[in-house]
Amino acid sequence: MKTSARVVVIGGGVVGVSTLYHLAKMGWSDVVLIERKELTSGSTWHAAGLLPLFNLSYSVGKLHQYSVDLYPSLEAETDLNVGFSRVSNIRLANSPDRMDEYRYYAGVAKTIGVDVNFLTPEQVHEIWPLAQMDGVLGAIQHPADGYIQPADLTQALAKGARQRGATIMRNTTVTGITQKANGEWVVATDQGDITCEHVVSATGSFARQTGAMVGLDVPVIPVEHQYIVTEQHPAIMERRAKGLPEMGVLRESDSSWYMREEAGGLLLGPYEVGAPACYVKGPAANSEYELFPDALERLEPYILSAIERVPAFGELGIKKVYNGAIAYTPDGSPIVGPAPGLKNFWLNEGHSFGITAAGGAGWQLAHWIVDGEPTIDMMGVDPRRFGTYADEGYLIEKNEEAYAKVFTVHYPDEEREAARPLRQTPCYDRMKKLGAVFGSVFGWERPNWFAPEGYELTDADLDRPETLLNHNHPDVPGAPIREKWSFRRSNYFEHVGNECRHVTEKVGIQDMSAFAKCLISGPGAEEWLGKLLSNAVPKKIGRVALSYLLTPAGGVRSEFTVYKRGPQSYYLVSAGALEQHDHDYLIKALPADGSVKFERLTTAMGVLVLAGPRARDVLAKVTRTDLSNEAFPWLTGKRISIGAAPCDALRVNFIGELGWEFHHPIEMQNYIFDKLMEAGAEFDIKPFGIRAMTSMALEKSYKLIPRELSVEYNALESGLERFISMKKPDFVGRDGLLAKKEAGLSSTLVTLEVLGVTDADARGSEAIYRDGQLVGRATSGGYGWRTAKSLALAMIAPEHANLGTELEISILGTMHKAVVIPDSPFDPENLALRS
Ligand SMILES: Cc1cc2nc3c(=O)[nH]c(=O)nc-3n(C[C@H](O)[C@H](O)[C@H](O)COP(=O)(O)OP(=O)(O)OC[C@H]3O[C@@H](n4cnc5c(N)ncnc54)[C@H](O)[C@@H]3O)c2cc1C
Repeated sequence: MKTSARVVVIGGGVVGVSTLYHLAKMGWSDVVLIERKELTSGSTWHAAGLLPLFNLSYSVGKLHQYSVDLYPSLEAETDLNVGFSRVSNIRLANSPDRMDEYRYYAGVAKTIGVDVNFLTPEQVHEIWPLAQMDGVLGAIQHPADGYIQPADLTQALAKGARQRGATIMRNTTVTGITQKANGEWVVATDQGDITCEHVVSATGSFARQTGAMVGLDVPVIPVEHQYIVTEQHPAIMERRAKGLPEMGVLRESDSSWYMREEAGGLLLGPYEVGAPACYVKGPAANSEYELFPDALERLEPYILSAIERVPAFGELGIKKVYNGAIAYTPDGSPIVGPAPGLKNFWLNEGHSFGITAAGGAGWQLAHWIVDGEPTIDMMGVDPRRFGTYADEGYLIEKNEEAYAKVFTVHYPDEEREAARPLRQTPCYDRMKKLGAVFGSVFGWERPNWFAPEGYELTDADLDRPETLLNHNHPDVPGAPIREKWSFRRSNYFEHVGNECRHVTEKVGIQDMSAFAKCLISGPGAEEWLGKLLSNAVPKKIGRVALSYLLTPAGGVRSEFTVYKRGPQSYYLVSAGALEQHDHDYLIKALPADGSVKFERLTTAMGVLVLAGPRARDVLAKVTRTDLSNEAFPWLTGKRISIGAAPCDALRVNFIGELGWEFHHPIEMQNYIFDKLMEAGAEFDIKPFGIRAMTSMALEKSYKLIPRELSVEYNALESGLERFISMKKPDFVGRDGLLAKKEAGLSSTLVTLEVLGVTDADARGSEAIYRDGQLVGRATSGGYGWRTAKSLALAMIAPEHANLGTELEISILGTMHKAVVIPDSPFDPENLALRS
């Protein structure tokens, strides 16, 4: 047995083997895979083998696309047939909202380069004559999509890896993992130890047990998933005899099931409500090729719906039911990338579409390990998108929910109900009384918008079949608020507009306590931050700067507001959703000599934002601090008292108005909140939510991770020059920026005014054209209430980015003219911010 290797991959399912294959393909042949039983004996062997390209996430979509391109090429490389049947995949739409979802998706697909056709019900029937088309409005078809034999695919990847020098050890169980003082890992197995530089965990249903070996709480708990295989049907056999093509994969999205031909019969896979989490404490030690007893009663409504759509299905006897474990995460996307808190420990876990994603996930993880970076934006699958709140109880509730919602319409403003309200800031109840309709980020409840008193949807609205209701937010007695999700302007649109107007005319208050916060201090802090981040480190106490953590190639990893709070002490604020991600990079980069200290402050500090032209008047009533522009200019911070409560007031905000963020001890939040509300009463202070903030930020052309800012774009392409100090001789990404400057930019970030919009603004991910040619993609979009413009931010090929250039943007299938306008259409001189 080998006793050392560069990388040890644990787990011989399709995902682990693909990781091994890609590492070997990138030239790392000293790599070993350890599998406790036989390859594919976990979840892989029983998968239905479908390869759905459909995914609304730009990053997951790219992983799937890579896989579908790679798999057919494996035969030539390995002489093994992977059983890829490129029979296409049809998704039906039975509601206008579903059609909107497909139209939106078509933009994502276009910008990724995935072919999608829209079909009429008649065209679907031609391809799938066994399906009747009652109630079908239309469909999309992926011609490149189909299904594969998962075990054959895994064997081909294994052969490809072995041909390149990789080693596979079967019937060997990893029993422990420890890290030595020099950073090397020792992987203990029942056959002996292997010392290595990197460890990859790809252990499917065992993810939490493998994680526990190194103290990780991996946010993966599987859910039961079943599919039914029937006896042969004469009509299908007749088609075969005539040499007619397979009918392909049919997905009845609105009834939550898929169907395809299988050996002359049919295979039906529902995603049912009520499927339970399984293997909560992990599979048994002897688990191998394991299935659960079938639970057909749960599938009954789905079977009936399948019979209605495909009557032939009702004529068939069941040959076999597969009920197996399918790994899940709270948002249904896999976990691919570095493990938080551990150097050189990687996760490739939580795959619910693992046959589809394995190729892409292995490919990008190999890049990450070998080159230090993935080549595409992986934020949507980054393991650090969850925090320590995502423990067993949370995972069971959220993962069951994620499974049940695989086929629901994925609205851009969708907010899910399970495991809420989990993380509440102290002012949660106060906001609730003011009509807050909450959203959730990183487990925190945040007001998305505020429904005015007495507001509710009309009965006519409630009756519309495509109306989905968010029951999650609190009911206000006597005035049930109902939020409709939509790809178009929805019922909160006007109210968000009122919030924007109110803030820009008077004054508003917002709870931003979910921000990630930390303190960097110590004798080495200034030098360390200078070498790590792009901007100059604030020199004077009280100065605030926006700064970026770049990749060596100059892509953008993280954004920080850096506030010099005291001598050798810097307070860093970043996006709430990215706390674990951002802090993990900081912690892993700390110097070994102890000269820099990191202190996490997220849950210790709350943040209230006061903004609008009367913000100074309100604050002046509750503090003795001189608030004049001379004494307290924009982009500075001070320790102040609000009444008796201390806080750090930072003169910054994300909406482009006069205002302050108050970073305060969290236990004093309600005291401060009440003081501000009391002082603000005479100025008509009102709360505002995330949706108003996002609209106002768009009017300032403010950029967000992972939209305008990502590892896929160079910081210069994202327009961050102002926040980069090239005077500094050395910081992460400097060489990458210089190299890109020399080579020329491939994209330019522009602000677009979208013309002719009536009810659907851009959301991000729309395709942008000039004279019929694809020239870029929108990264954000929405309506700007202060400018009365429909706006979008977009990454465009530089030759089309000049001011005034007329482009076209496809929003839900309608082409709109879009003009490149100067950045920050609201208050380009920042007069309000400086006032
Ligand atoms: C009924 C059903 C149908 C499905 N259909 C599809 C489909 O059509 N399309 C699709 O894309 N996906 C489908 N899936 C999902 C798919 O099966 C999984 O996403 C995929 O198999 C995951 O592969 P994996 O390599 O991550 O995990 P696994 O295949 O479970 O592999 C993990 C391996 O790690 C090994 N291991 C664990 N711990 C250790 C240890 N300590 N030491 C050594 N080895 C260890 C295990 O023995 C196991 O072999 C389906 C799932 C189910 C249940």
